[in-house]
Amino acid sequence: MTHTLPALPYAYDALEPHIDTLTMTIHHTKHHQAYVDNLNKAIAGTEAENMDIISLMGAISKFPAAVRNNGGGHYNHTQFWMALQPNAGGTPVGALADAINSTFGSVEALKEQMNAAGATRFGSGWAWLGVKDGQLAICSTPNQDNPLMDIAECKCQPIFGIDVWEHAYYLHYQNRRADYLAAIWNLVNWEELNNRFVACK
Ligand code: MN
Repeated sequence: MTHTLPALPYAYDALEPHIDTLTMTIHHTKHHQAYVDNLNKAIAGTEAENMDIISLMGAISKFPAAVRNNGGGHYNHTQFWMALQPNAGGTPVGALADAINSTFGSVEALKEQMNAAGATRFGSGWAWLGVKDGQLAICSTPNQDNPLMDIAECKCQPIFGIDVWEHAYYLHYQNRRADYLAAIWNLVNWEELNNRFVACK
């Protein structure tokens, strides 16, 4: 299949002041577009061309680094955009809210643990909330890896991944990754995250 850049479900300036307009524009039209273009080039004429992105992640050890890096980049950014929305945040809803409370004690504790996972990821990568063996779990991955990959140290069904590459925050937050991580929670679409949680239970 030929992969395509998904349209954002909101305008580039809609996540201000938490994520600035220039960062959103470059992140989507340049970074994510490049992952899509380079993924399509890397899979052209190979077995990977016939696989959807989820199947590809699960078998990523069979493919070259260009497929891992760009395929991961495409999957990771797609789930990231769709997990955010303007004027969001608030509190978790539905079965996910119950699971967060029973696993972490509170949504504040979840945020603390996930922010710590993002803050301590050396260099570039992602912090993840996912479902492992029926339970919520938090972990992080380097580069454009994700927990769906067969090579991942922390395998789970992702619910929400936060991009902690410098390109995700540097224009506005410079070196202050922790401030960016704190601000992200004002944009979380909890309805979408609950839908993902329910779908993988
Ligand atoms: Mn990114």
